[in-house]
Amino acid sequence: MDEYDIVVIGGGSGSQVATAAADRGLEAAVIERGPLGGACITRGCVPSKALIHRADLADAVRRAGEFGIAADLQDVAYGEITDAIHDTVYEKAARQERALEESDSVALFRGEGRFVDEWTIAVKPTDDSGDTREVRGDAIVLAVGSRPMVPPIDGLEDVDFLTSDDALFLDEQPDELAIVGGGYIGAELGYFFGALGTDVSMIGRSERLIPGEDDDASAVVTDSLADYCDLYTGYEAAEVAQGDGGGSVTITAEPSDDDGEPVEIEADELLLATGRRPNTDTLALEETSVETDDKGYVETDARLETAAEGIWALGDIVGEQPFKHAADYEAEVVMANVLNDAGREVDYGAMPHAIFTEPQVASVGRTEGELEDEGREYESTTVPFDAAPLGLILGADDGFVKVLAAPDGEILGCHVVGPQASTLIQEVVVAMDSGDGTVDDVADPVHVHPALSEAIYTAFDDLSSKEFSSAPDWRDVAPSGRSSEAE
Ligand SMILES: Cc1cc2nc3c(=O)[nH]c(=O)nc-3n(C[C@H](O)[C@H](O)[C@H](O)COP(=O)(O)OP(=O)(O)OC[C@H]3O[C@@H](n4cnc5c(N)ncnc54)[C@H](O)[C@@H]3O)c2cc1C
Repeated sequence: MDEYDIVVIGGGSGSQVATAAADRGLEAAVIERGPLGGACITRGCVPSKALIHRADLADAVRRAGEFGIAADLQDVAYGEITDAIHDTVYEKAARQERALEESDSVALFRGEGRFVDEWTIAVKPTDDSGDTREVRGDAIVLAVGSRPMVPPIDGLEDVDFLTSDDALFLDEQPDELAIVGGGYIGAELGYFFGALGTDVSMIGRSERLIPGEDDDASAVVTDSLADYCDLYTGYEAAEVAQGDGGGSVTITAEPSDDDGEPVEIEADELLLATGRRPNTDTLALEETSVETDDKGYVETDARLETAAEGIWALGDIVGEQPFKHAADYEAEVVMANVLNDAGREVDYGAMPHAIFTEPQVASVGRTEGELEDEGREYESTTVPFDAAPLGLILGADDGFVKVLAAPDGEILGCHVVGPQASTLIQEVVVAMDSGDGTVDDVADPVHVHPALSEAIYTAFDDLSSKEFSSAPDWRDVAPSGRSSEAE
């Protein structure tokens, strides 16, 4: 039996807790069955954004004519692109593995961990080499992440399909691709494949793609993705069948509200992007007093301690915010609580997220729909990106910044749609997380001219209590016809 001060199961964000413990002179262990770094590095954030960067380049070439530059998209070296991305992200995972192996105070166990009792985990080597080893920890951190959920669609057992785990590294670009699922992973991949020229059909249960976003944001993305994909929003995949000779797949999709006729969609490849499920079923948690909800997410208190004292959880298995930055934030909370007994509680009030479609979406705080459902009093303004001169220059005419604030100026939510939205949201996050979190915290500081952050500035300035304003407003020359809507 190997005994440690702290044992982390899952080498994604959780491994940082082990490293921090080792820096304190504690004996720590990480149990990981796959590549180090977790989903983000080899199956999620990084490779998907590397692909989307190629889609953005292809899109820029396609749009160049709008700006008086003649350019044609001549060829996409698809296999070379995916090979290059694969090599980069697996090199990063290998470096992380080497760093742990070379560390004197973090032990790396390669294999799948399962509890045999509350404090003991059996690690079965992934490649069946060697014997199962038992590891015991004084504190244990569960950080085993999530995997694609495969929905119960008739005929799926007889059909070849992809999930995001395999769709990122295809050797060849599919000519036709049907994507089931209109959430953020489906939308990002729909944009990627569509922008590179694949004939994409997307089937989404809701009337809009990315339905969890503010309605205005999801409406813009749905309209925009209709330029890259054939959209079947408001449909559910009911049945799938392999085509003759196994070369294609036919999907029968039925209207979600049972009102209307089914449609049949044919494609070379089928990609399921129908959500993710926590990997907690791999852990034999029934051997412990850790509790999960009916979907398998781990129940924790606000300090991220599970029902078993001394066993902590973080990341996708907590089910609060399924994003890498959220998992890293939760890892910091667990470090503070396990290593310093800090009693720190999670606060997701200023937790942002972004979706890397065209246009990008970034969001923090409440959506307008949520505020309405809560019956909360709020003020709102929506300012188009082309109110800022750089927004106009870039032709970001479907972009906007929407600010939701309480009558006393407290920022309740902000939704940004447009180029670099994922970066632009950050000043709003800083304002919400520190200081008073009011619209004045964003509207008061000087913003660089003529940067896109002026779109944020003008929107917050609209709701601010400032007596004098110098925020730019180019709506009067915006070619998009949005000016009258926004004013
Ligand atoms: C296609 C895609 C795109 C994404 N894009 C973004 C993005 O742009 N931005 C963003 O913030 N998030 C993104 N995400 C989400 C992000 O990847 C996850 O939220 C994040 O990786 C969660 O971290 P984690 O540590 O909880 O889990 P993971 O990173 O999944 O790490 C868990 C680890 O545990 C291991 N494991 C599981 N069970 C066991 C076991 N029993 N024993 C040993 N090891 C085990 C797994 O192999 C895995 O390595 C994306 C996800 C996908 C799929």
